Amino acid sequence: MGWGGGGGGWGGPGGGGMFQASSNTGLPFGGIPSELMEEATKIVSTEPKHKPSAITFSQLPSESEKLPLTLFRMVKAFPGYVLWGSLLTIVISLVLQAGPKLTEYAINNGMTKGHRSLTVIAVCGILYLVVAVGGAVLQRLQIVVTGRLAARVMHELRVRVFTHFQRLSLDFFTDEKAGVLMSRMTSDIENLQQLIQDGISSFALQGLTMAVITVVLFSTNVVLATWTILLIVPLLFVFSIWFHVASEKGYLLSRDRIANVLADLSESLYGIRVVTANNRQKRNMLNHQHVVGAYRDANMYTGRVNAIYGPTTSMIGIIGQGILLSIGGNMVLDHKLSIGALIAFFLYLNRFFSPIQLLVQQYNALQQGRSSIIRLRELLQTSPSVDEEVNAPDLPTIEGRMTFENVSFGYLEGRPVLENINLEIAPGESVAFVGPTGAGKSTMAKLANRFYDPTSGRVLLDGVDIKTVSLHSLRSQLGVVPQEAFLFAGSIKTNLSFGREGISDEEIEDAIDVVGLRDLVERLPQGIDTIVHERGQTLAAGERQLLALARAFLARPRVLILDEATSSLDLRSETIIERALDRILEGRSAILIAHRLTTAQRANRIVVIDHGGIVEMGTPKELLAKGGAYAGMYNAWLESGGRDATRSDV
Ligand code: ATP
Repeated sequence: MGWGGGGGGWGGPGGGGMFQASSNTGLPFGGIPSELMEEATKIVSTEPKHKPSAITFSQLPSESEKLPLTLFRMVKAFPGYVLWGSLLTIVISLVLQAGPKLTEYAINNGMTKGHRSLTVIAVCGILYLVVAVGGAVLQRLQIVVTGRLAARVMHELRVRVFTHFQRLSLDFFTDEKAGVLMSRMTSDIENLQQLIQDGISSFALQGLTMAVITVVLFSTNVVLATWTILLIVPLLFVFSIWFHVASEKGYLLSRDRIANVLADLSESLYGIRVVTANNRQKRNMLNHQHVVGAYRDANMYTGRVNAIYGPTTSMIGIIGQGILLSIGGNMVLDHKLSIGALIAFFLYLNRFFSPIQLLVQQYNALQQGRSSIIRLRELLQTSPSVDEEVNAPDLPTIEGRMTFENVSFGYLEGRPVLENINLEIAPGESVAFVGPTGAGKSTMAKLANRFYDPTSGRVLLDGVDIKTVSLHSLRSQLGVVPQEAFLFAGSIKTNLSFGREGISDEEIEDAIDVVGLRDLVERLPQGIDTIVHERGQTLAAGERQLLALARAFLARPRVLILDEATSSLDLRSETIIERALDRILEGRSAILIAHRLTTAQRANRIVVIDHGGIVEMGTPKELLAKGGAYAGMYNAWLESGGRDATRSDV
C-alpha cells in the first residue's frame, strides 16, 4: 500500500483505510482523483492482505541482535529454505554432469568399430534429453527457493536496521549524513539480496560442479587429470588471489563513493529552497559532478580489474587445453585412451573452466555483498551513546521537579559547552532560558530530555536521576516542541495524535481550540483529516508551530520543553501563540528557550545563560529591577519597538 508520495496516500496515517478523494483544493495532491477511484479500488483488492504485525520496541537490543551480522546468521533463521536450497544445489551439480558420460558411452559402445549400435545411441540420446529437462526443472525450483530465502532475509534485515536507527542517539544522526544512512538501507541491502538470491547458490553450484568434475576427470584418466591440476589450477589460483585483493579494494571504494553520491543528492534535495534562493545551482552541480566522478572512477577501476581477470583466465584455460590435447592425442595413438574417453575428458574440461568463469562473474556479486555486510555490521554495532540500563525501572508519574546538579557538558572532548550548572525548576514552574546565540540554551534542553548525557553531574526529575530510568517512561512524561516543528506526511489528526496512544477525536478538537487552530482547520477542505505534506511544507511557519504546540498539549507531558521558533511571526500569530502557551503551560513545569521577550516575560522565572553558565536568575520583575544583563536586553528591546529577539542583545 502507500500511494500518493508526500500526500500520504490511502490506508496511511491520514486515510484510516479510506481513500481520499482529491477535493482538497489548494493542496498540490490530496488523494486519488474520484474518476480513478474505481480503478484504484480494483487494484487494491488484488493486493495480498497482510495481518497487522504485533510490534514491540525495546531500547535494548535482544541477545541475537547483539551478535555481529554475518551471512550465516542471517540465513540460519530460515533452515527450511537453506536445506532445500543446498539439497537442490547438490543434486543439480550431479545431474548436470551426466551428459559427457552418456556421450562417452554412446561413442565407445555405439559408434566405434565392432561396437555399432543404434539402440545404444538412441537410449543415450533419450537419457541426455531426460537429464537436460530434469536439470532445468530442478534449477527452476532452486531459483524459487533461493528467491524466497533472499526476500525473507532482506525483510528481517530491513526491519532490524530500521529498529537500530530508532535506538541510536541524536549524536549519531548529527555526525552521519542522512544520504549515507539511506545508502545502507538501499544499495547495501540490495547487494545482499542479490548475493543471497543468485550469488551464493551460483557460487555453491559452480564450486560443487568443479569438485564433481575433478573427481570425474580423475576417474576418466588419471594422467590427463594430473596434468590439468598441475598445469592450469596453480596459475588460476595465483591469479585469483591477485583478483581477490584488487577487486575488494575496488568494491569497498565504490560502496563508500555511492554513499557520498546519495548523501550529496539528499542534502541538495532537502536544501533545494536555500540552493535556489542563493543561486547555488552551479556550485552544487560542480560538487555533485565531483562526487559522481569519484564514484565513476571507483567503478572504472573495478571494471579494469575485471577486464584483466576474465580474458586472462580464459587464455590460461585455452592454452592448457592445447597442451592437454597433444598429451591426450598421443595417448589415443598409443592405445592408452579410448576416443570416447578423450572426447568426454574434453567435454568435462570445458565444464571445468566454465564454472571458473562463472565464479569470476559471481565473485563481483560476492564482493559487493561482502562489503555491504561489513558496512551493515559496522552500522548495527554502533551503540547509542545515550543508553538505557538493563532492566531500568520506569519513572513513576512525576510532579515535575527538574534539577540540574553540577551539570557540565561538551559535544566534543575538551570543548565544554555547559559548565557546572545548578538549577532547580519547581513543579508547575515555567522557566525561560535567554541568552546570546550559542550560549548553550538548547543544549540545556537536550540534556533535560536525555538526548545527550552530561559529561559530569546529574539531571534529576522528582529526585530521580534520569539516567537510571527507562527512556520510554522518561520521554512519555516530557513534551518537546522543537524550534522547527516537524510534521509527517499524513493527516492533521495523525500528526496531532503522535505523542500518545488512544487520543480521541474529541480531545483533538479540544486541543485545536486551546491552541487557536480552529480558523485554520475550518479553512482546510477536510478539517482534521486533511493531508499535510511531508515536513508540513504546505502550511505557514506559525501554523506548523501551533500544530506542534497542540501535539505537545495532547501528549499531556508533566514537563514541557519548548524551543521557541526564531523565525519572526506576524503580530497576530504571535498573540495566538502566546495565548496557546498560557493554556498549555497551566499546571506544568516548563523550560522555555525564549527568543521573544514577551515569552520570557510570561515565565515565572528567567535564567540568563552566557558562555555555558548561568549569569543571572530571577523573576522578570527582579531581573528588571536588578538592572543587569536581562534588564539591558529588555531596554534594548523596548527601544527597538518591542519586536527584537532576546538573544542578540545580551
Ligand atoms: P540558539 O539560541 O542560537 O539556539 P543556544 O544557546 O541554544 O543557541 P546551543 O544550541 O545550545 O546554543 O549550542 C551551544 C554551543 O554548542 C554552540 O557553540 C554550538 O555551536 C555547539 N553545538 C551545538 N550542537 C552541537 C553539536 N551537535 N556538535 C558540536 N557542537 C554543537
